[in-house]
Amino acid sequence: MKEELLHFIWQSKLLAGNKLFTTNGEPIQIIKQGIYNKDAGPDFLNARIKIGGTEWAGNLEMHIHSSEWLQHRHQNDRAYDNVILHVVYHHDKPVLNKHGQELPTLELKELLQPALIRKYTYLLQNKHTIACETIFRLPDPVKTNLWLSRLLIERLEHKCNYLNDLLIRTNQNWEQSFYLFTARYFGMKTNAQPFEWLAERIPLIALAKHKERPEQILAMLMGTAGLIDETKQPDLQAEFLFLQHKYHLEALPRHVWKFSQTRPANFPTVRIKQFAALIHESSHLFSKVMQVRDVCELEELYTVTGESKLSRQSIQLILINTSIPALFLYGKKMNKPELCEKALSFIEELNAEQNATIRFWASKGLKAQNAAQSQALLQLNQYYCTQLACLTCMFGQNILLNE
Ligand code: SF4
Repeated sequence: MKEELLHFIWQSKLLAGNKLFTTNGEPIQIIKQGIYNKDAGPDFLNARIKIGGTEWAGNLEMHIHSSEWLQHRHQNDRAYDNVILHVVYHHDKPVLNKHGQELPTLELKELLQPALIRKYTYLLQNKHTIACETIFRLPDPVKTNLWLSRLLIERLEHKCNYLNDLLIRTNQNWEQSFYLFTARYFGMKTNAQPFEWLAERIPLIALAKHKERPEQILAMLMGTAGLIDETKQPDLQAEFLFLQHKYHLEALPRHVWKFSQTRPANFPTVRIKQFAALIHESSHLFSKVMQVRDVCELEELYTVTGESKLSRQSIQLILINTSIPALFLYGKKMNKPELCEKALSFIEELNAEQNATIRFWASKGLKAQNAAQSQALLQLNQYYCTQLACLTCMFGQNILLNE
């Protein structure tokens, strides 16, 4: 039994059909269940409860055992002075309020449906990667789509948070922040941080000045990354030494880059070449992203030629992870909802990603139709399934509340 299950039962109004009494036999009528409080303080705020003949307005606190009130020292905490009802799974000890009177207590032990507890225990205790794997039931399409839309917004906001941090660091310089954000993405999970350090060490203005000379852009990036092989690439090294002096570029130590956990196609040397090609082919990228009219134009911005050409799939991943969150955040911060809508419609036009998580959900009848849905499923996996947050997951609620 976990306290979160009690919160879920109360929030879902699962006690509505029961006649409720305090442990002292007084009838309880729930008028307003209160607002769930995830912060410090009582679990539900601003409830209205009739106990005996008196209606009370105040807060509710929940525990597995009533004695936890004393263990947590709520009797000495002013934040709990206005608790009107103590809801517990098992009443093992009477608890007094600050006036020395017994706190009205509702015990749930005999009221909970055994099937609900059984299913919840199963979700928490089985060893499957996705806890609901064997009992998953696809909810109706309206509910499913609503849940996927909510997950997508959560994911976008999560990506936007990092861009927002960069904006704070760069004093709200969108172009510079977007450059750092894009660089970070090029590093993928393994080399995100060194890629960001690399971009920080090369001013955008220096890259812009040499935009017409791709070999100089590459020299600046590879040299500052500390990844030029002097014996095999003497010309690149010579170019770098000239530019290093001109722009006071400080090279990173080679050891910050990770090669061992990376596939050759994603080695930092390969990704830096692709990043260099992107910088060569585009300037003022952020401003251009904000102005595109459709997703084809957006893809076009990232289409680079030559040996470092990005595949269409790679471009789509860049859009999902950089320009679409940037569009969304810019729309939000500048109060331009049309840009947020554009971001959402663009992501719906991109292909769903293909990986083990997406394939798993397809095997359960939930085939991602586009990148908006695959991103939603990745969010579900990362922030709900792996943390067993089944009570806050709409699929989990569907399993628990239906026979
Ligand atoms: S979080 Fe949701 S989808 Fe994930 S295992 Fe729990 S119930 Fe299933």
